[in-house]
Amino acid sequence: MRPYILAESNWEYLKDAKFDMAILPWGATEAHNYHLPYATDNFQAEHMVAEMARLAHEKGGNPIVLPIIPFGVNTGQSDIYLDINLNPSTQMAILTDIVEVLNRQGIHKLLIFNGHGGNNFKPLVRELGLKFPKMFISFCFFPSVIDKGSYFEEEGDHADEMETSLMLYLRPDLVLGKEKWGRGIAKKWKIKGLNEGWAWAERKWSQVSEDTGVGNPEKATAEKGERFFKGVTEKMSQLVLDICKADIEDLYE
Ligand SMILES: [Zn+2]
Repeated sequence: MRPYILAESNWEYLKDAKFDMAILPWGATEAHNYHLPYATDNFQAEHMVAEMARLAHEKGGNPIVLPIIPFGVNTGQSDIYLDINLNPSTQMAILTDIVEVLNRQGIHKLLIFNGHGGNNFKPLVRELGLKFPKMFISFCFFPSVIDKGSYFEEEGDHADEMETSLMLYLRPDLVLGKEKWGRGIAKKWKIKGLNEGWAWAERKWSQVSEDTGVGNPEKATAEKGERFFKGVTEKMSQLVLDICKADIEDLYE
């Protein structure tokens, strides 16, 4: 039993335990090109939070990792078979109930570890902050933690070189052979402002990508995945440790 993973813990241990903070991994269940499993975001997030909690625990932090929420926002993939959409309002309801438990039981720090690009926690965290003023709620999205460009050659944001490399490192048993990998070619908008990124609209995924991937996975390797995994979890473990040690009444300098 890892003492920082709630799913592995028991009442014998937990009845006397106290934690500095909770970490909630949040993923998605969706197609990832032809070759990666539907739970790719969940596998990645679960491995990452376990490792960063282990590192923070070793350095004297005391976080507890909650079980992952396996469904995310997939409103743009409604016609892709068995992509399971959770609406943002449903996410808000789930998160509110979890925060209510933590708040009532005196765990006043929460880090949401986002493993899926369609999840957007900022408006939720803002609203929950007003509702639960004693709570310190933060979130992070792992591909933004370190500079992807110095680890991978091809750009992408879904089932790309990064995700394929991570899965080759973490769960190679679930990655199809290279002859099955689609090229992850994504169509651009005809509307210029949307391509430039300063205007946003949701992409109709099945019209943008034939294989559901965005980004060419061709140059992915397990070695690249391992380097990136270690880079992300090392940096994230410091964030976890800093939140564990932080006095939430005194956060600014
Ligand atoms: Zn993914």
